[in-house]
Amino acid sequence: MSLPVTDRTAGIVGELESFVDGLPAIDQHCHGVARGELGAAEFDDLLTESERPQPPGGNVFDAPVGVMLRTVCGPLLGLDPDVGGADYLSRRGELGASEVSRILLEAAGIDTYVVDTGFRSADITSPAELAGITGARSAEIVRLEAVAEALAEAGTGAAGFMDAFATELASQLQQAVGVKSIIAYRYGLDFDPARPEPASIRRAADECEKFAPLHSMTSSARDNRVGGISRPSAFAVLRLMTSSNLIGA
Ligand SMILES: [Zn+2]
Repeated sequence: MSLPVTDRTAGIVGELESFVDGLPAIDQHCHGVARGELGAAEFDDLLTESERPQPPGGNVFDAPVGVMLRTVCGPLLGLDPDVGGADYLSRRGELGASEVSRILLEAAGIDTYVVDTGFRSADITSPAELAGITGARSAEIVRLEAVAEALAEAGTGAAGFMDAFATELASQLQQAVGVKSIIAYRYGLDFDPARPEPASIRRAADECEKFAPLHSMTSSARDNRVGGISRPSAFAVLRLMTSSNLIGA
């Protein structure tokens, strides 16, 4: 049942719509965009978060995400909404990756990007680069697991891990505006959110190092895609992060 729309309510709705349209949008969690040109296989790979290859004969452009991409982004690039995947890619090639990024990001109308820099950050634009494409603003969110992995990669052992982590995080938070964790992707949500005592953090770091020396676990941790099945060493890092309970603290 719908309520009768009077002139007055229609006027209020109209005012509200134009007010909302005029609000600068903040993307409160995003990542950079790809740098440079993408081949067809790379494009397919980035279009979905699935770790599995397309089924034989399958085409990601015919999956729901591909249909949305063609329908929404196609017209912005001067194409029909029902453009085929191959034509979409060749139009991208004609315009060039940086022009495509500019067109699509401008259409999104984002005023401020709040960027999680903890995933594939070497391959994609930094917060400043992302904002620079359209003259928007940016801020950084630090991914806790990435801080731990970087320390492990630098050779930080279990004994010094807790202090090193706190120092490094404090340093990064001089610039960044917040933190995030991907605990749910790698472990699930069934963890104790209570702040642990330092002794239990040390114990977790020791266990973690026994399981796999910290400096040797990063390559497998890093290779895991978001949402992927964790290998044991990455799992150990995440247990440690859970125990350190900086998540949501
Ligand atoms: Zn993210």
